[in-house]
Amino acid sequence: MLRMKLHWWILIGMVVGALWGTAMNIAYLDAFEAEAQAEVLGDQWTEEEAIAAAREVQDLVRGKIRATALGGLAYGLGTIFLSLLMMVVIPLVLSSLVSGVAGMGSAKRLGRFGWKAASWYVSTSLLAVLTGLVLVNVFRPGHGVEMPLPVSSGASVEVPDSGWDLLLRFFPSNPFQAAADFDLIHVIFFSILFGVFLLQVPERVRAPVVSFFEGAFSVMMKMTLFIIKLAPVGIAALIAQLVAQTGPAVFVELAGYAGTVAAALAVHFFVTLPLIFWVVTRRNPYRVMKAMSPALLTGFSTASSSGTLPLTMQRLEEGVGVGNRTTSFVLPLGATINMDGTALYECVAVLFVANVYAAVNPAFTMTLGTQVTVVLLALIVSIGAAGIPHAGLVMMVIIFKAVGLPIELTALLWAVDRPLDMCRTMVNIWSDSMGTSTIAMTENDVDMAVLFDEPESSTAVFPGEEREEDVAAGGR
Ligand code: ASP
Repeated sequence: MLRMKLHWWILIGMVVGALWGTAMNIAYLDAFEAEAQAEVLGDQWTEEEAIAAAREVQDLVRGKIRATALGGLAYGLGTIFLSLLMMVVIPLVLSSLVSGVAGMGSAKRLGRFGWKAASWYVSTSLLAVLTGLVLVNVFRPGHGVEMPLPVSSGASVEVPDSGWDLLLRFFPSNPFQAAADFDLIHVIFFSILFGVFLLQVPERVRAPVVSFFEGAFSVMMKMTLFIIKLAPVGIAALIAQLVAQTGPAVFVELAGYAGTVAAALAVHFFVTLPLIFWVVTRRNPYRVMKAMSPALLTGFSTASSSGTLPLTMQRLEEGVGVGNRTTSFVLPLGATINMDGTALYECVAVLFVANVYAAVNPAFTMTLGTQVTVVLLALIVSIGAAGIPHAGLVMMVIIFKAVGLPIELTALLWAVDRPLDMCRTMVNIWSDSMGTSTIAMTENDVDMAVLFDEPESSTAVFPGEEREEDVAAGGR
């Protein structure tokens, strides 16, 4: 068998899917559309009636395409792939969040490092999402494009209408029910609380629970990687279904979307993160970038920040001079929960699909409330996403469900997901590296001779924060 990298297989899958879909499109679409319109509307119908019944007609057309051999195969394989992906989401979210939060160690250790790390994660992820939000509103990819998208008949359009509705969405009353209903926001809420309170029970009780969740997380990572191997076939089938009903025009519009994600990622990578580092430490961030380049490029080619973690740690310690005390705490946690690139990507991707969907479904409108929901969920989803290829896209169903977008439309995003995943993974790793270096500098845990050719240690300190020597002098 040819030993090719997965992303090549995925690209091949996309091309096959596009051809497969185009064949169905040419062979069936016009005839099936005419048949469906006659069945729904009779022989004499006006344009308005056709628009009003568009969804019903589309459902019927989809059913007709599925009834063919080629369409049935696309439907079957695509559904298996989507189901497998959905199958791992809940256990993966639960185990990754519980082990990530519990990995902080004791509640006391959460203290100083904890608040610094948490402020870095939250503030940089938020800045990333806002960068994406601004650019997606400026460039508006997908806006006003009349694509006859496959619209799921079961998808109900629900948009939060008040601040309370938005807030109440986060509070589960029954976590098991939430898991059974695939209510991921509730599962995430419960998992974080579980991790936090796990830190407060005695070590004897905590240790086996933590090992259990760590073990479960490793298993889920392996299972996810296995499912991702099926991606070329699953993606071919999903793309085929999509193109059968939309035609190849769908790919042209993706260029605007991919360009918006890439531009926003570049702003965050080259400007925002280095600027924060410089403001806090007054040192040249691009020297750190150069020292970290092997890890960044490995992240780019593997599209996995977890897989790159050992290399990131090694470069930070040996290339930048960061002490192990900081890297061992801040880095693994960051690799699990700090994903600026993923957060930014979630925001742009969902709003892009929403723009496209709004053009064909007048009942779906993008309100300010929807955008706020997307921003909040993008942050949460980036925390819950595993550091493996395509995790961000797998997790996107959460946001789709919350804002009322049919989850089949994630198929739109698969076409360009691999290159975008490579870019966002690099941003994720860069944010972890900048965060760890910044925190280490404020903690005087950097050997300044290694990268900055300075004999003295860093003197930068977060406002109101004690220096390491002061703490030591105080008889810590
Ligand atoms: N591949 C990304 C990472 O490993 C996660 C994602 O899919 O966004 O960081």
